Amino acid sequence: MKIRQCELEKVAVKKEQYPPADLPEFAFCGRSNVGKSSFTNAMLGRKNLARTSGKPGKTRTINFYRINDALRLVDLPGYGYAVASKKEQDAWAKTINEYLESRDNLAELILLVDMRHEPTAKDKEMYAWILENGFAGLVVATKADKLSKNQRHKAFATIKKALNVPYDDLIVPYSAVTKENVDVLWEILDDMAAY
Ligand code: GDP
Repeated sequence: MKIRQCELEKVAVKKEQYPPADLPEFAFCGRSNVGKSSFTNAMLGRKNLARTSGKPGKTRTINFYRINDALRLVDLPGYGYAVASKKEQDAWAKTINEYLESRDNLAELILLVDMRHEPTAKDKEMYAWILENGFAGLVVATKADKLSKNQRHKAFATIKKALNVPYDDLIVPYSAVTKENVDVLWEILDDMAAY
C-alpha cells in the first residue's frame, strides 16, 4: 500500500479517549523492546513518527495512527519489562484488556516477537488468546537482520513450535534496518482490511 497520508491521530489510555471505531484497525503487541516503535516507523515510511528508545518499558499508552483515511495501525503498550512493579503490570493489563474487549473494528491483533529469542510465556499467552478470538494469528519476527540464514531457519522453527502457529505464511521475518518484508506485510494487511 502506498502511504499517501498518515498521522498520529490519538494517544489514549482509557476507552473514552479512543478515536471512533470507524476504520479497520490493526493492533500490534509484544514485549517491551521488541521493536514496536521501529515497526510503526518502518510501516509508515517515517523516520520517527513513533518514538523509539533503547530503554524498555517506557510506552504506556495506546497510539492510534490513521493511514490514508482507510485504516489504523494501533501500537499497544509493551509487556514483560522485568522490573515492572505489580502495580505497573496491573495497569498494563487493564489498558490492554479494555482495548481488546471493546474494539469491534479490530481486524487483526499482530504479535511481534524478537526473532533472536524464544517466545516468552507472555507471548504464548497472547498468541493463544489471538487464535481463540478468531484472528488469523499473524506473527512478525523482528530484527531478522541480526540473524544468519542458518540461524533464521532455526528461529523460524522455534517460533512456529513455541506459539503453535497454524501455518508458515503467518510468520513474517522483518527488519526495521533493511525494511525486509514491509511491502509483504502491507499486502497482507490490505487483504485483511478488505476481507
Ligand atoms: P519498542 O520498545 O518495542 O518500541 O522497541 P523500539 O522500536 O524502541 O526498539 C528497541 C531497540 O531495538 C532499539 O534500539 C531499536 O533500534 C532496535 N530495533 C528495533 N527493530 C530493529 C530491527 O529490525 N533490527 C535491528 N537491528 N534493531 C532493531
